Amino acid sequence: MRNPLAGATAADTEYGSIPRTAGSPRATLLSIKNVHHPVEGSFKAAVFGFSDGLTTNLALVLSVACAQQPHSTVVLTGMAGLFAGAASMACGEWLSAQAEREQHLEELRTEEQHLAQIPDEEASHMKGILMEYGLSGGIA
Ligand SMILES: [Zn+2]
Repeated sequence: MRNPLAGATAADTEYGSIPRTAGSPRATLLSIKNVHHPVEGSFKAAVFGFSDGLTTNLALVLSVACAQQPHSTVVLTGMAGLFAGAASMACGEWLSAQAEREQHLEELRTEEQHLAQIPDEEASHMKGILMEYGLSGGIA
């Protein structure tokens, strides 16, 4: 199998020696990569967090208010609820990011083992993945 990184320059690091010209496989790969917008995931998480925080805090404050507690207790409960919600959200987001990172590192270790132990199978696996992204068999 031909080494796809043979002759790659420092400027070519992300996609090896695939040329950059418009309509080239490299340009195709770059445009496919740009289909993924991490901002969309963040926006979804922010909307979910806002909705979740608003709902739980409203329920908390209404519950305390309905129990005929003093005004200061209702306000303090609302503030505590906001703080607890923000802390919980931050911890949850951090933990899920760590878990995702560990999962990616584990996949990377597995693929490094595959490359070392079964390089031919790995090459055809990679070719299959690139073809799923729309590259023709010859290019992949
Ligand atoms: Zn593999």
